Amino acid sequence: MTAAVVDTMLGELLSPSQVNTFLSCPAKWYFRYALGLREPTTGALALGTAFHSVLAANFRQKMETGRDLPSETLQESFTEAFAIAVEDAEFREDEEPAALIETGRTLVAKYMAEAASSIQPKAVELPVGGTIGGARVQGVVDLLDAEGRIIDCKTAARRPVGITPEHSLQLTTYSMITPGATGVCRLDTVTKTKAVQLVQQSCEIGPEERRYAETLYPMVQEAMKDGIYTPRRGSPLCSRRYCGYWRECEREFGGRVEN
Ligand code: SF4
Repeated sequence: MTAAVVDTMLGELLSPSQVNTFLSCPAKWYFRYALGLREPTTGALALGTAFHSVLAANFRQKMETGRDLPSETLQESFTEAFAIAVEDAEFREDEEPAALIETGRTLVAKYMAEAASSIQPKAVELPVGGTIGGARVQGVVDLLDAEGRIIDCKTAARRPVGITPEHSLQLTTYSMITPGATGVCRLDTVTKTKAVQLVQQSCEIGPEERRYAETLYPMVQEAMKDGIYTPRRGSPLCSRRYCGYWRECEREFGGRVEN
């Protein structure tokens, strides 16, 4: 499959996560987007999914009521959302469901105590679409606030140092294709460290960020259409722990994916 995949629709409609996946490992992109294989959920991914859905539910109702839901209610919702998210999860050796629920509830409480009250949502989980550098691009914006600022909320194992290129591309993309977005963005990260921290990083998308996106999208699109999807075994994200496609990858390409 690596040398001759012929599908003229492949890569026609892009998203920042597609492009980021392709750049991190073309083979991983192939398994997910060309073959449509689902990556097994881990406990950490389920925690992130449940965290997201609980905050989205809060902000969605806040658009109507102008008020946040009580933190305790949302922590209960987290427990329910986590149970759904882990239905077919493959827990890693060091993941313990009860501990993950406890952590998730703490993260929700932290976000509600320190970030939620100052956010006035205008749109939540907003599907957006447009064209960047001639490529059709779509995505879902976590939150657009009343000032036209895009806010992305996430959980992380440790305190972030700066905004990664992957997140920068995501925020740039959404700024470019979201009606009413001003270009001001904020990345809210709640860390799963012993002492939970909320880290808020703001940025403004300018001409250079837009130029990068306009260059990258058509370039990656062309590479996707080439039909050569090499595995990137040297990537720091290539391991059985971080890539759910390691079995397919070993079957397809041979060799061994390390733990
Ligand atoms: S196991 Fe490594 S090389 Fe294979 S698809 Fe995943 S990240 Fe890519």
